[in-house]
Amino acid sequence: MFNFPDFKVPIQKIEGFPTLFGMHELYILREDQMHLEVSGNKYRKLKYNFLEAQSLNSKGLLSFGGAYSNHIAALAALGKQNEIPTVGIIRGEELFSKIKENPTLSFAVACGMQLDFISRQAYKKKEETSFINTIKEKFENYYIIPEGGTNNLAVKGCEEILSDHTHNFDYLCVPVGTGGTMSGIVKASLPHQTVLGFSALKGTFQEEIIKKYTHKTNFELLDDYCFGGYGKIDETLIRFINEFKIKTTIALDPIYTGKMMYGIFELVRQQKLKKNSRILAIHTGGLQGITGMNQKLKKKQLPQIE
Ligand SMILES: *Cc1c(COP(=O)(O)O)cnc(C)c1O
Repeated sequence: MFNFPDFKVPIQKIEGFPTLFGMHELYILREDQMHLEVSGNKYRKLKYNFLEAQSLNSKGLLSFGGAYSNHIAALAALGKQNEIPTVGIIRGEELFSKIKENPTLSFAVACGMQLDFISRQAYKKKEETSFINTIKEKFENYYIIPEGGTNNLAVKGCEEILSDHTHNFDYLCVPVGTGGTMSGIVKASLPHQTVLGFSALKGTFQEEIIKKYTHKTNFELLDDYCFGGYGKIDETLIRFINEFKIKTTIALDPIYTGKMMYGIFELVRQQKLKKNSRILAIHTGGLQGITGMNQKLKKKQLPQIE
């Protein structure tokens, strides 16, 4: 039997920035503490998919991702924990010879995940029927999850991020990739709450995804704090993440939660949020990605994320 306990994670007040937060109160929901090895929101997104795979008697679970994917790492770890095989279709054939150097891929292999490397060209076609059929032939009776893990069951899992403890916040802030996590949060939000989504990539196309899952409109999506695009970061962001950790002891990841928190600080600084409001930042996890990012930063002679 699969085991997906509903861990209770704390909500903590962020102190240490008195001049900035004179008119607001900032709290953080520690979804990063859900699971030792699995990014908080990926645990939420995979939970009902695992249970569905179990009820379908699937042989294993299969999904897609890049070299540093939190989703692939989470799928591998939860597969190991629940003793069911997992397959990761990875973008980039050249990575085959670099598994050892890559912290995410070597973690996935250590969890028992089977990795299948495909060219970037082939990866672009991963949603096409002919490609999916080839996958289905090769991995018979596997439960297939889309890249990033967003589907109905993932959104259902993300609704569980909110609870009685999150009702008295005015703003719910969340980092956004595919928009699946934010869809669940908007769905579970209350009318007096505004959900602010901070896109980790250029554009706010995720709005269409969110509208697919909910009719609620109490949300706003911003890409002003994406730092130029997915996976892109600069010294300003690194300094911010390091300073935040020194002041609060809370680690943020450079791809998602660091950009969200930077965005929240900017909105407060620019007085764009309602006075005397209570803000809840949702720490979705992603800390497994720091090691890989630090390898890249070292090559570029940029400072490390501490
Ligand atoms: C994947 C991920 C997100 C984005 O989730 P989506 O549902 O794709 O929008 C946010 N934060 C972290 C840490 C993630 O790993």
